[in-house]
Amino acid sequence: MTTHSSNSYSVDPHTAHQFYINGRWTSPAIPATLPVVNPATEAVVAQVARGTAEDVDRAVAAARGALAGWSATPAETRAQVLGKIHELILERKEQLAQALSLEMGTAIGFARAMQVPLAAEHVRVARDLLSSYRFQTVEGGTAIEREAIGVCGLITPWNWPLYQITAKVAPAIAAGCTVVLKPSELSPLSALLFAQLVHDAGLPPGVFNLVNGSGAEVGATMAAHADIDMISITGSNRAGALVAQAAAPTVKRVTQELGGKSPNVLLPDADFAKAVPLGVMSAFRNVGQSCSAPTRMIVPRSRLAEVEALAAATANALIVGDPQSEDTQLGPIANEAQFHRVQAMIQAGLDEGAKLLCGGPGRAAGFDKGFYTRPTVFSDVDNAMRIAQEEIFGPVLCIIAYETVDEAVAIANDTVYGLGAHVQGQDLDVARAVASRIRAGQVHLNHPAWNPMAPFGGYKRSGNGREYGVQGFEEYLETKAIIGFGE
Ligand code: NAD
Repeated sequence: MTTHSSNSYSVDPHTAHQFYINGRWTSPAIPATLPVVNPATEAVVAQVARGTAEDVDRAVAAARGALAGWSATPAETRAQVLGKIHELILERKEQLAQALSLEMGTAIGFARAMQVPLAAEHVRVARDLLSSYRFQTVEGGTAIEREAIGVCGLITPWNWPLYQITAKVAPAIAAGCTVVLKPSELSPLSALLFAQLVHDAGLPPGVFNLVNGSGAEVGATMAAHADIDMISITGSNRAGALVAQAAAPTVKRVTQELGGKSPNVLLPDADFAKAVPLGVMSAFRNVGQSCSAPTRMIVPRSRLAEVEALAAATANALIVGDPQSEDTQLGPIANEAQFHRVQAMIQAGLDEGAKLLCGGPGRAAGFDKGFYTRPTVFSDVDNAMRIAQEEIFGPVLCIIAYETVDEAVAIANDTVYGLGAHVQGQDLDVARAVASRIRAGQVHLNHPAWNPMAPFGGYKRSGNGREYGVQGFEEYLETKAIIGFGE
C-alpha cells in the first residue's frame, strides 16, 4: 500500500506497480511501467504499472461479480461507506495534497485549499443525496423505478486529478453501480492513494477497481468492452470522440465532459475594478488548466484601456514559483506535452497580430527547468483568431472588445464549445437576461461561490451529460416503468 502515516507523500513501489482489483493490490498481467514526471523539476518521481486489455478484463469481471450484491444494498449502507470515504479524504488531506503537487505541480496551497476539499465535497454530496433520493415513485398506477445502470468505466484527466475521480466514483457507487477507474497516466499518484482509502473505508471487494495505463490501450479497451454498461470520460474532445466511437457497437451510455473556451462578459455597468482582477484570477486558476476557465474576457470597447491596465497589473502580480512554496499562486504547467502546446498557442497569438499586454513565449523568469509558463494576456483579440477559438489550457487570457450587448452575446456564443460562462453586471435582471442567452451548461453571475449541487456539463462540443448534484447522480441510473403496478 502507499504510505499515509505521515504528511509526506512517498510512492510505495508495491502499489504503484499494481492495480486495485477485487479488493486487492494485484500485479499486472504483463509487467510494464509508465514514468511519472514532476513538472517542477522534470525528474521522474515514480513508475506506475501500465495495464493491458487483460487487466481491464480482470477488473471488469470483478466489477460485474460485485454488481448484484452492491446494487441491492440499502441506500443507508452505501451512504455509510461514502461517509467513511469522506472522512478518510479529510483525514489524509495533506498526503493527498502532496501527491497532487508532485504529480501535476499544483501549488501546495491551492491543493490544500481547493483540489482536495472540493474533491471531498463530491463524496459528501453523494452521501447526502442518498437520504432523500426517491428510487421509486408511483403515479397513476405506474411505478417509475430508478436503478443502477451497471458496471461503469470511468476515465479521468490530469488537471484536477482527485476532484475528477470523486466526481465520477462517488455518484456511481451511491447509485449502486460498480466501477473500473482509469486515471490519467500523467497524474496517477493521487488515484493510488484514493484506491487505498476506498479499501480502508470498507467498500466491498469488486465495487471499485483501478487500472492504470494509457488511453489508447486501457481507455480504448474499456470503451469497447462488452461487459461495461456505461463510460464516463472527462478529457479532450479528441479522446471523448474516440471513446464514443469505440463504445457505439455495444450501445453503452457515454457521458463526456470535454473542452471549453468559456466567455466572461463584462456588461457596461459591471464594477470593473473588481470584475477584471477576479476574471483574470479565474482564468488563471490552476495555471489555466481548467476546462471551464473563463479565457475570453468580452468587454465594452469604450472601457478597453482601463480593462487592459487592470488585467496586466493582476497578471504581472501573480507569483509563479515552486509548487512547494506556500506563497506560490501558479506552479508549472502539469506536463511537458501541455507546456509545448501552450507555448505554440502563445506564438500563434503573436503571429495572428493580437496585442501582447504581458507574459509571452518562453519559461517564466528565474527558471531554467520545469514547465513554468509566463501568465499571458492578449488584447485586441478577434474572436476568429485561433487563440480565441481553440482551448489553450494554460495561463493565457484573450480580451475581446464589443460595441453592443447583442454583439457581446454573439461573441460569447461564437464557439464550438459551451461549458462555462460568466456574466458581470450590477443590474441583476440585465445580467440574468444575458445569462439566459448564452449557450453553455453553467453560467456564473458576478463570481459566486462554488456550488457542488449545480449540474456541470457542456452544450455543443463540450460534451454530453452532466456531473455533480442530482443530475450528475442520475446519469448512473436506468429508468424502469412498471405499468399496472397499482397504487
Ligand atoms: P486527454 O483526452 O488526453 O485524456 C483524458 C483521459 O482520456 C486520460 O485518462 C487518457 O488516458 C484518456 N484517453 C485518451 N485517449 C483515449 C482513448 N482513445 N480512449 C479512451 N481513453 C482515452 O485529456 P487531458 O489532457 O488529460 O485533459 C485535458 C482535457 O480535459 C481538456 O480538453 C479539458 O478541457 C478537458 N477537461 C474537461 C472537463 C469537464 O468537466 N468538461 C474537466 C477537466 C478537463
